[in-house]
Parts: sequence; structure tokens; C-alpha cells
Amino acid sequence: MNRVEVLGRWKKEKSEELYGIKNWGGGYFSISDEGEVRISANKGADKGSVSLMEIASGIKERGLDMPVLLRIENLLDAQITYLNESFRNAMNTLSYQGIYQGVYPIKVNQQQQVVREVARFGQRYHHGLEVGSKPELIAALSELKDKEACLICNGYKDEEFIDLGLYANKMGYQCFFVIEIPGELDLILERANALNIHPNIGVRIKLSAKAGGHWTDSGGDQSIFGLNMNQVIEIVDQLKEKNMLDSLKLMHYHLGSQIPNIRDIRSAVQEASRVYAELVKEGAPMGYLDLGGGLAVDYDGSNTNFTHSRNYSVEEYCMDIVEAVMTVMDNAQIKHPTIITESGRALVAYYSILLFNVLDVASYEEYDIPEVLDESVPEQIRNLHEVNKVLKTKNLQECYNDALYYRDIIRDMFNHGRLGLRDRAFAEKIFWNIIQRIAKDKAKLKYIPQELEDIDSAIADIYYCNFSVFQSIPDSWAIDQLFPIMPIHRLLEIPKRNAVVADITCDCDGNIDSFIDMHDVKKTLPLHDLNPNEDYYLGVFLVGAYQETLGDLHNLFGDTNVVSIRLNKDGGFEFVSEIEGDSVEDVLTYVEYDAKEMRRNFRQSAEEAVRDGLISPADRRDIVSSYENGLRGYTYYER
Ligand SMILES: *Cc1c(COP(=O)(O)O)cnc(C)c1O
Repeated sequence: MNRVEVLGRWKKEKSEELYGIKNWGGGYFSISDEGEVRISANKGADKGSVSLMEIASGIKERGLDMPVLLRIENLLDAQITYLNESFRNAMNTLSYQGIYQGVYPIKVNQQQQVVREVARFGQRYHHGLEVGSKPELIAALSELKDKEACLICNGYKDEEFIDLGLYANKMGYQCFFVIEIPGELDLILERANALNIHPNIGVRIKLSAKAGGHWTDSGGDQSIFGLNMNQVIEIVDQLKEKNMLDSLKLMHYHLGSQIPNIRDIRSAVQEASRVYAELVKEGAPMGYLDLGGGLAVDYDGSNTNFTHSRNYSVEEYCMDIVEAVMTVMDNAQIKHPTIITESGRALVAYYSILLFNVLDVASYEEYDIPEVLDESVPEQIRNLHEVNKVLKTKNLQECYNDALYYRDIIRDMFNHGRLGLRDRAFAEKIFWNIIQRIAKDKAKLKYIPQELEDIDSAIADIYYCNFSVFQSIPDSWAIDQLFPIMPIHRLLEIPKRNAVVADITCDCDGNIDSFIDMHDVKKTLPLHDLNPNEDYYLGVFLVGAYQETLGDLHNLFGDTNVVSIRLNKDGGFEFVSEIEGDSVEDVLTYVEYDAKEMRRNFRQSAEEAVRDGLISPADRRDIVSSYENGLRGYTYYER
């Protein structure tokens, strides 16, 4: 509690530090002199930046309700440029003789708008697409126009998948089939033969190098995908036997996503480069080395090898990769290959922001407790009251123990019918006053016991917010992923409350109680008091990767409204598109309700109520129209 207050007079710099916006913002986010979060597509430059509050007002004026997923087109464009230019610079600096050609893995965010924009913005770098399933291939073929870009096909491939890929080849696309399991080769060769189209084949290998982090099960000997060295040799032999070795052009591996440690990346590249060199020695033409995804996002801004961070920059990532590949190739006197990476998270994370309003706050206030208790107050409650009186900084731990002890006794007495509800309620007021005071006083201790550390989250305010964790930031719930969260305005005011964020699903998991921190993970988030008659907006940042399609319909909260904007050079912005979120009717249809039938059923129930004299026919009209409005409405809280 006190921690925020002792920071003294509040300035935007204090908000910047408190929320770490410069550390995780990638140069795209900053705080304006008005105390609002600003977005800029030019890393670090204020020119052409726009206030998020201005965008939020624009959204409101257009009649769209919160929550809104905001996509900023320029940020996608900027990240594609950043990655490609970083590889170009690294290659120029090191005199690498090959080129870089990235591909975007569709699964990271499959929304049409995203894939279309990647294909469009990526064109000037021939940035292609990676697909892992038939639906993704079909999507890619409708969006990818650039024939020089690569189209990498991973995943299990049936005849239909293979035929489509082969036709793509014939149409001039650079389409590669990556063999994930040994059995796939036969079918590919069979279809290639039947359609008389020469395939481009790649092999996905299992490396022994393994990486730390959350999502890195794809690497290592035990990974479910990819071929071990023995299987790679068998593929080579099969191709030789069928006189098809000239189709083997690519080698691929994927260590996993969000790899926080550059050392893991470097050792994998080195091992993979060695395998690549050996495949060339075997007589395969090769030419493409595909290093998969894994380029991490610094979600907490700590620049460390912590799971939610990374201990390297994009520039270092590129330099290290190019250098490692070059060293192995030069030693083996092999032509430098085209380097492909399949970065997804790093390309799209910055691009989306989830915006929502706070609906209500539950906070512990200090209760008025009389100095002297009435004669009739039971003894155990008197004891608790006494604890409150004697509480001092030097006996905090002891008073904490006593307070817990008496609270438990009092609860027990209540459960056994020896204490009434009013007595129990009074005792709880005293108890929480004690806990509040301990929470405030403990800052003065030299050493704070863990037990006392933890009470901050117990007495944190609960900010009830208009969104669903399960729908909009599922990784926060499922794998404790941290995302930067902060108010998007009022950043010149001191945030006096310490809060946890609850969503509006009625699920006890529907909350966020871990927040980014430079050194650790914070249990509470500093927020401002709500002002009467004024919306308070929070933003969850860096949610562009993986969150949208992993989200689900928990409590039947559906897709949010999506608004895409484009920032102009002059500091203005345009609404490029808006996609209305699910209506109640939409989400009910997903779980197999039939809206027509529902209307009919409800009208019938209302008619029965008229017949029974409970409502008038005019009431029925209002009631039915209210039901139908509900069906058409947004699934979230509407004002
Ligand atoms: C998921 C996946 C990626 C994307 O990884 P990021 O870490 O998001 O860049 C790339 N390649 C393959 C094969 C994947 O499965």
C-alpha cells in the first residue's frame, strides 16, 4: 500500500517506471504529457503517435462497446520490416552470401485480416507463409500472391493436402513439403508421380539441443515431431533409390516457442547447420535452411532469460544465427543457404491490444470499531479486539498469528451455533482491520517474513472488468503467461490502489493476479480510484500472438469487437475496419441452439403467462421484445 505513496509527487516518468512501458513496449508505446498511452509506428519516435484514449473515444462514438480488440496495422508492418532489416544488416555486416526469407506461421494468429496483412506487407521482403494443416494451406493459397515467397507445409499431409501443394508448385509458388514422419514420403512421391509435378521436399529433424522455456517441448530427442538422424538417412536413401534426391532442398527444425536464452538458440543453429552440411555431402541440392520459430517477446521487459522475457535483442538473434550458419558452411566449404525463420509470436504480439472498462471495485476499507466494547460482546471477540489494540511494528508477526487463531475459533463457534451472524460479522471487521494495519506496517520491517509478504494479495482491491480471460487472454489462465497490463489514461495521477483484475465470467479462475515486474512477478497491480461518471480503461498489451483462436466460450462470452486502425504520418489515424463481436444469438448457435426455436419457445411461455393472468398482452409485447433484444445484443456488459 505504502510503496506507491512514498514515491512522492507523481509524474509521467513515474508511471513509465511503475508499469515498465519502455521496457516491454518495443519502442511502440509511450506515455504522453497528458498522461495517456500513445502508440507510434516509428520505434521510439513521437512523430505520428496517437493516444489510445483518442482511439477509444473514436470507438465509443461509433457505437461499439468494450471490450474491444484493437489491431494497429502499422505495428505488424513495422515488425516485419524490423525482422527482415535486422537479418539484412547482419548478413551485410558478416558478408553472408545467401539471403533471408521469413515465413509467417499461420497458426499464431489465423484471422484473415492478419494473414492478409502479413502477405501484403511482407511482399517487399518476399516474406511467405508456413502452414501446418490443410485448412491453413487453403487459407494461405487465397492470401499469398507473391510467387517468390516461400510456402512451407508442415504437419500431417493427406492426399488432398499434397495435391494442393503440388498444384501450387506448378502454378509457380515456392511450396515445400516438410516431412515430419517417415511414412509421409511414399504418399508425396506417389502423388507427385501421378500428377507429374516435381515436388520440393524438406526434412524436419529432431535436434538433441533443447531449450528452456514454456513452449519448448518441440525440441529435443523426445519431441513428437521430426525425424531422428537414422530416419533422415533412410529418407535420403529412399530418395536416392527412386532417383529423386534432387527434390530434397530444405532442412527444418523447430525448437519451440518463446525461447528466452540466446545460448539455446545458438547451439541449435550450430547442430542444425552441421546436419545441413552433411545432407549436402550426401548429394542433395538443398539451398534452404529453415530454423523454425522461437524468437521470443520480452513480455515483462526484464531482458533476462526468464520465461516471459528474452536475454537478447532481435539484432543479436539475427547476428548469432547468421554467424553460426556461416561458420559451419565455411568450414565445410558449402554455399551459404537461404535462411528461413518461422517467427510468429515476435511478428504479431505487438499488433493487438485488448481494451476494456472497469465495471466495479471491491476494496477493503478500514472499519469503524469502538475503542471500548459493550459488556455483551463474547470473550473470543474481545480477545481479537485486544490484538488490534496492542498491534505495533515490533510485534507484527505475533499479532498476525493471534489474529488468525482467534478468527478460526470464532468461525468454529459460529459453525457450532454458539455465535450469531452479527457477532461473526463484527469479528471479521476487526480481523480485516488488523490485517490491513499489518500490511501497511510491514514495510517498516527490515526482514519481511513470506507469510506477511503474501497478505498484500489477500487485501488487494478487486477490479471487476468487462472482458473474459478465457476468451481474450487464454494463456493467462492456461499456462500463467504474463502480459503487460496498465491503465491507458490518468497516468499523471498517483495510482493509490493495489488491485487484482477479475473478469466477468463467474469462474474463480477468471482473474489475473500475476503481473509483470522487472525483478520478480508482482501479485497486485497499482491502479487508480474510480472517478464517478467516468470510465476507467485498462489495456492488455502484446496479445497479438496465439490468444485469439485459443480463446473459448466460457460462460458463453463470445468474440469481442475487433477494430483495426492505421496510424497516419501526421499523427492522425483511420479506422480501417471493424468486425462486430459475437452476439448472444451467435454464441448460442455455436452450442447448437436454434435461435428461431428459442424465440418460439419464449413467446409460448409468455403466452402461457398471459393465459394464467400473470402478465397482460401488452406486458407480453415488452417482455418478448426485451428477450429478442437480448439475443441480438453483445455478450459482454453493455451500458
Ligand atoms: C508454432 C510454430 C512456429 C511459431 O513459433 P513462434 O515462437 O511463435 O515464432 C513456427 N514453426 C512451427 C513449426 C510451429 O509449430
